[in-house]
Amino acid sequence: MYPYLAPPLLLKNKTILITGAGQGIGRALAEACATLGAQLILLGRTTSKLQTVQKSIVDAGHLAPFIMPFDLETAQTEQYIVLAKRLTDQFQCLDGLVHNAAIATPLMPIAELSDAMFKQVMQININSVFSLTHHLLPLLYKSADASIIFTSSSVGRKGRALWGAYAASKFATEGLMQTLADELKDSSIRVNSVNPGATRTAMRALAYPQEIPTNNPLPEEIMAIYLYLLGPDSKGINGQALNAQ
Ligand code: NDP
Repeated sequence: MYPYLAPPLLLKNKTILITGAGQGIGRALAEACATLGAQLILLGRTTSKLQTVQKSIVDAGHLAPFIMPFDLETAQTEQYIVLAKRLTDQFQCLDGLVHNAAIATPLMPIAELSDAMFKQVMQININSVFSLTHHLLPLLYKSADASIIFTSSSVGRKGRALWGAYAASKFATEGLMQTLADELKDSSIRVNSVNPGATRTAMRALAYPQEIPTNNPLPEEIMAIYLYLLGPDSKGINGQALNAQ
């Protein structure tokens, strides 16, 4: 695991938006950030899952997260404008943006992958990542020390058979990260990507139904790299493709 031990209250006074915060890695990250004092904005598709995470954070005695049900597959430009306005009205700035939500298809060769599946994966995994970043940049600029984390994958760094649209979307994620990092290199916003590595979640189970789940770490066990990138200890780290494990 990434060798970083987050100090208590590392994220006090930080406002952080996490996409796909209703389960898996996004949920674990939300709970870890709340423990360290962050004000969270939980974005996801399923309202009831976001409410469950919100309740668990409040019950643990941390700041109540703001929940933002939002479908990254169907959202149009107008909805991003409304979302950015709501957040601008509610918060002075955004200190962290974690692009975590994504989908994968069952493993299959490109010859079998339909147009519709390819487009759906690209819509959720990369088109929406561009739109959300684009519309939230003004709020990120208001922070004295902001961090954007893009979520990659090992197949976003080297293509592998059967990963079709998902691999293409993660390569595009790395491209967006590198381009934005270069554009913002003299700003107060750092931009990096994280490959979580094999982690025990619903997505992993979909890709590898035969695998013994307990061979992989829980999301809670891979949080160190995310916390490092979100807190001030990573100031100056920009444009890096990092690994959680
Ligand atoms: P999960 O499938 O457990 O969680 C994905 C999250 O994304 C869910 O909360 C889901 O919301 C949300 N989401 C999916 N589609 C949409 C949408 N249209 N609009 C809004 N939210 C949506 O995945 P993981 O936790 O495993 O994955 C998290 C990230 O890590 C992903 O980017 C993935 O590619 C990456 N990753 C994971 C690995 C692993 O082994 N687990 C390995 C490498 C990379 P809902 O629950 O409401 O559907």
